[in-house]
Amino acid sequence: MSRLAPGVLREAVIDTSAITQNTRHLRALTRVEVMAVVKADGYGHGAVRSAAAALAGGATRLGVTDVAEALQLRRGGIDAPILAWLHAPGASFDEAAALGVELGISSMDQLQRAAAAASADRPVGVHLKVETGLGRNGIAPEDFGAVFAEAARLERIGRLRVTGLFSHVSNASPDDDRAALARFREASEAASAVGLAPRVRHLAATQAAIDLPEMRLDCVRLGLGIYGLSPFDDRTPAELGLRPAMTLHASVAAVRRVPAGHGVSYSYTYRTDRDTTLALVPAGYADGVPRQASNAGPVVIGGRRFRVAGRIAMDQFVVDVGDAPVSVGDEAVLFGDATLGAPSAREWADAASTINYEIVTRIGPRVPRREAQR
Ligand SMILES: *Cc1c(COP(=O)(O)O)cnc(C)c1O
Repeated sequence: MSRLAPGVLREAVIDTSAITQNTRHLRALTRVEVMAVVKADGYGHGAVRSAAAALAGGATRLGVTDVAEALQLRRGGIDAPILAWLHAPGASFDEAAALGVELGISSMDQLQRAAAAASADRPVGVHLKVETGLGRNGIAPEDFGAVFAEAARLERIGRLRVTGLFSHVSNASPDDDRAALARFREASEAASAVGLAPRVRHLAATQAAIDLPEMRLDCVRLGLGIYGLSPFDDRTPAELGLRPAMTLHASVAAVRRVPAGHGVSYSYTYRTDRDTTLALVPAGYADGVPRQASNAGPVVIGGRRFRVAGRIAMDQFVVDVGDAPVSVGDEAVLFGDATLGAPSAREWADAASTINYEIVTRIGPRVPRREAQR
């Protein structure tokens, strides 16, 4: 039986080779440039290691939400192009410009602040973001004329380099996404009309990149897929040729034999129905194990599958293992690669009425990340 290293209560094991292979697979499938999205600490997998692994698999760009995340990658030694697309109101872009971070631009104000951060010998690289239906940020169609013309002027005088034009889609339906693509093409024509020629046009994240070839354009922004998870309700990672990179496991911290009728965890929402063994798993909602999955989340111990018994607490939960021979120190696997017998992040998502993105991304800072040995 598997065990964690002595002294380790819980950990997330990150298989960076899976990230590399997933990236390689999706790059071969889409046949366009891949921007690996490593925001939110690489969806909980570690931003720098995820970025390095994706670059090794053929990604040529990185995407993050905010400039602080981009700077963290630079400090971690990553020198590939990085795009950051959500900005604090009024913040200076000086540091981003100094470290060659490209900026997603959603307004005239951001455009001017980006230009203000340019130095005499180095224009700031920008990707203009256009609104195509999601109702979030992005330059509105009525502002295309003015913002694009100003971007073209700032490019001509050497303050900006307009590298990209992009938007983001809803995945509401293929038709909705195609409507966004049509709006994107209008934006693209409006940009060309004022003399802009962005080399990298990008619209699709993992779901559209896999399912809608016409959305791939010059580049796809892949998050979930590179971590080996499926954005589709009806297709597993294995069916997409992907391998989950994160395994969350913990070391059984206590076992207790109890009689029938014994209450378990806060509020006794679970009571034993026979003589049985309770195993204590030292991971709770502070670690990102969703309390919503109380009495539901799956756990594998010693190759057998169980369910959380009772409430998930801040630091721990209980599993009713019946008469299975479970001992202190045994490995309890919460999720990982289902083809290796682990529950999937998707099952936890279903148990908690959420999506697999949230399950991996919320694994908390108290959970050490360890890279899988190869
Ligand atoms: C998070 C994000 C992505 C990646 O989405 P996935 O579905 O994880 O591939 C791509 N583009 C933008 C703008 C994002 O915010």
